[in-house]
Order: sequence, then structure tokens, then C-alpha cells
Amino acid sequence: MGNPWVEVADRCFVRRYTEWDVSVTVIAGDDASLLVDTLATATMGRRLYDEVAELGVPPIGFVANTHLHFDHAWGNAAFAGLPVWAHENVLAGWDAYVQSVRSGVREESEDDPTGELLKTELLLPDHTVTSVALLELGDRHVELVHPGRGHTDGDLVVVVPDADLLCAGDLVEQSGPLSYGADCWPLEWPQTLELVVGLIGDQTVVVPGHGERVDKGFILEQRLDAADIAGQIQQLAGTGVPVDDALAQGSWPMDTGRLGDAVRRGYAQLGG
Ligand SMILES: [Zn+2]
Repeated sequence: MGNPWVEVADRCFVRRYTEWDVSVTVIAGDDASLLVDTLATATMGRRLYDEVAELGVPPIGFVANTHLHFDHAWGNAAFAGLPVWAHENVLAGWDAYVQSVRSGVREESEDDPTGELLKTELLLPDHTVTSVALLELGDRHVELVHPGRGHTDGDLVVVVPDADLLCAGDLVEQSGPLSYGADCWPLEWPQTLELVVGLIGDQTVVVPGHGERVDKGFILEQRLDAADIAGQIQQLAGTGVPVDDALAQGSWPMDTGRLGDAVRRGYAQLGG
């Protein structure tokens, strides 16, 4: 289920969905619209297609995935025939990620309120970004930027210069703390957020992957948590604390139950 569309900047519409509390964005030009993220299943994607049509904006000409996670990219099949953009690492990691989700989700459990995750038809992105790509929507353009690794190794942010808007994907979260999963890059996340901050101004509207829109000040705050976590991992690993003791010995800015992967991934990257 979704809330109504909200126009958060000139012809930039955000809709927040109950399932996984994920948001999608439509950016309309006078020739075509760009859809940012496609929800979690082909059925949800098809419903989204109809909901975009209700906006009365030019038809979707482009789709972009902010990263490969199911709640952002597994509705792609509903947009077959359209160019679907993502970072090149999304393609590289797609099969392994699909396997990991499908082996972890229990059928007919609360993991999958749609009842469809395990069997939904998938569609890989077919246009890739290495660092930056430009999409022309008519009277405006958007930039797809890979600011570095953080939430995953294939995070993209979407910049709409004339509307002063940035879609941050899950590099920024408002409705919860930063999400460190099995594919995160905790040591690089702070630097990546610094690059994101460099792309925006004090008034820029920032749309996170989950939650209400935020601003540069919010990202700077969240960056402090990311930097704290990265710094502690480096310090603990550097002083010889075993990885299995690190969570207990640190003083973390969020619940340690959310940081197991961050510590494991950070230690692994440091060669520990
Ligand atoms: Zn994610």
C-alpha cells in the first residue's frame, strides 16, 4: 500500500510505501519521466506503473535503481522495454544477491508480506553507470552519480540540478539508522557521504531510501555515525581485538544487533 504522491520539488514526486517503508521518486521532464526505484516485486512494479500514470506527467522514459536490494529493484520486470539504469557493480553482484535473499526468506513469513519475493520475475538493469551518467528528460536533465561504496558497492544517487533535489537511496536513511548488511562497505561509507554532501547545497531536498525527506544537515549528522563506526572498527582491529569481541568492546552509536555485518566486513577489509 502506498501513501499519496508528494511533490517535494518542482515536478519531483515521492511516494512512500508501507511494505519495507521504501520510497520511490518520479522526476518529470517535458519529454519523459524518470522513475527512481521499482519496489520489491513485479506485481508491485505493475501497480507502481499505473500509479505513475495517475500523476499525469510524461510517460516513464527511464528507470534507475539506486542499488540492487530487492525493495528497490525487484519490481524492474514491470518496466521491461524501458532502459533500466544502475551502477555496473549491480550487474556483477546480482546473481549472488538474489540467491542470498531467496535462501534467507522464509515462505509465507513476515519476511515477505507480499508472498511473492521468492518467485517474482526479475529483470536486470541494462544500462550501467561507472561514475556519472546524464539523462535528458526534455527541458531538464538528471545526473546519476556513483559517489563510492557504502550501503553496497553499487550505490547511485540521482541529482536533479534545476529542482535542487537528490535521491540518496539507502546511503541515507531517515526512518531508521543506517543499514549495514552483508554487502556493506563500512570503512568507506563516511567518505562516500562526504562526496554526496559535496553534490548538494543547504536547501537541497534529499530523498532517502526509507523515510521522510531530509537535508544536508541531516546527512552530516548521519555521516558522524558512519565515521564513528568506521573509526571504531579500525581502532579495535588495529589494537588486536578479535572480531568476535569487537561489538562488546566498542561504544557504538546504534544497537549492536545492527552492526554485526559492519564489524565483520570492516575487519575483513582490513585483513583481520
Ligand atoms: Zn538497501
